[in-house]
Amino acid sequence: ARLKRGLTKTRTILTTDIDQLFSGKRQIDDEMLEEIEELLITADIGVQTAMDLMDGIARKASRIQTPDALKQLLKQELQTLLANAAPPTDALQEKPHVVMVVGVNGVGKTTTIGKLAAREIHQGRKVLIAAADTFRAAAVEQLTIWAERAGAELVRHKEQADPAAVAYDGIEAALARGMDTVYVDTAGRLHTKVNLMEEIKKIQRTITKKMPGAPHEILLVLDATTGQNALAQAKMFNESLGVTGLVLTKLDGTAKGGIVISICQQLQLPLHFIGVGEGVDDLQPFDAARFVDALF
Ligand code: GDP
Repeated sequence: ARLKRGLTKTRTILTTDIDQLFSGKRQIDDEMLEEIEELLITADIGVQTAMDLMDGIARKASRIQTPDALKQLLKQELQTLLANAAPPTDALQEKPHVVMVVGVNGVGKTTTIGKLAAREIHQGRKVLIAAADTFRAAAVEQLTIWAERAGAELVRHKEQADPAAVAYDGIEAALARGMDTVYVDTAGRLHTKVNLMEEIKKIQRTITKKMPGAPHEILLVLDATTGQNALAQAKMFNESLGVTGLVLTKLDGTAKGGIVISICQQLQLPLHFIGVGEGVDDLQPFDAARFVDALF
């Protein structure tokens, strides 16, 4: 229900317009095909993906005589496209399991770390958060509030401290205190792109030095409302760091929920979680079937 509510904007556009397409018509014609393609592109499914979907629909057009039949077919085709979008694995072998969280400022990185920590603590795991975005005092304050609320431990240094040193201390503390998971927050100021990537790589190297094999995950947080921009960010982070999984936030605030499909299609990176609100419970493991269901 929460997912359905979160995707209201995208669903309203898709379903109302599909219903309208059929008014007064009984069969899909060329004009309708074009309108459907436009509709998919408006929802930010991406031009290439929309074209691929349309091929399938055009081939089966004679069998599609109602809006419901069209929605059904779209659902099937979309689920196939989303097949590689894996939910997170539950079996976390390493102790602590170290997750570096990266992303551009404002995408919802702090909030996502808070939600992830709360989720794991709820499952009985011990979580530590390392506040390695030392550039933004406000981000550290926010993270402190989230950590307290969730019952996570927090390692922070003073403002402008070396981010790699915070990460190092975080891993050390987590090893000493028997933590199950460590989330390492990182900076996201984009105006110094090269410096940012270098800073994050240094954090990454420092973590590996303290704990060989770590970080086990590099989770990239993207804001769904930024549409195709999110895709560009993903390419940049992935090329520099080798992202292992994605979180897509603010799906509740956008009519462009189709960006999920674009991203899964073009990046071939697993989408682990989606954010559908600001509250602690508004983060869900991504499930392609449920997602597509909620879209129509
Ligand atoms: P950061 O700069 O990347 O750390 O971003 P924040 O975590 O501070 O989030 C920026 C804003 O986005 C805050 O107002 C959050 O409440 C909001 N936000 C984060 N995730 C979601 C989401 O899934 N849905 C909505 N509607 N808002 C979100």
